[in-house]
Amino acid sequence: MEYLTLGLVLSREEGKEADANLHVYTRDFGRVSAVSRSLRKITSKLSGHLLPGNFVSVRLVERNNGGWQAVDAMSVKRMPVSQSSLRFLEFIKETTPQNEADLKVWNKIGSLPEKGKIDRGDYVEILDLLGLGGSAARCAHCGGEVSYFLPKDVIFMCRQCFFRSLSSEDEAVHI
Ligand SMILES: [Zn+2]
Repeated sequence: MEYLTLGLVLSREEGKEADANLHVYTRDFGRVSAVSRSLRKITSKLSGHLLPGNFVSVRLVERNNGGWQAVDAMSVKRMPVSQSSLRFLEFIKETTPQNEADLKVWNKIGSLPEKGKIDRGDYVEILDLLGLGGSAARCAHCGGEVSYFLPKDVIFMCRQCFFRSLSSEDEAVHI
């Protein structure tokens, strides 16, 4: 089966031969893991579209193993190019369930390029939509006011506990 949907490219890693492994947050299927064949070949027209931060109209084919193959893509718009955008893409990749559509999350993500900047309120709203308790959250260690969210462990921490935990700022979202 082949589907046409909209998606935000979250990550792209080079796979074997000229293939690439992608994570895309899609309107119709939520976060999907997809391969794209021969993406690094110069002749691949797909290559320039399937880049992290790009919103694309993408044609997906379902594979037997539960994964997907991206067979066509066209850029629609993109996230502002910045460190905070990259952090945001990583955040969405870590926190959203695979193959589970969520139109509210999709609409929120889709509104960000026009907004231009991703702030604490956006993170809290998305964490709330995902049922991870953004606004009601307290520090996992002391119950204090939250300053950081660690996507990898899905926990919130206050400033003090965060620094005491020796977690890296690179792994955390400041909210
Ligand atoms: Zn704390």
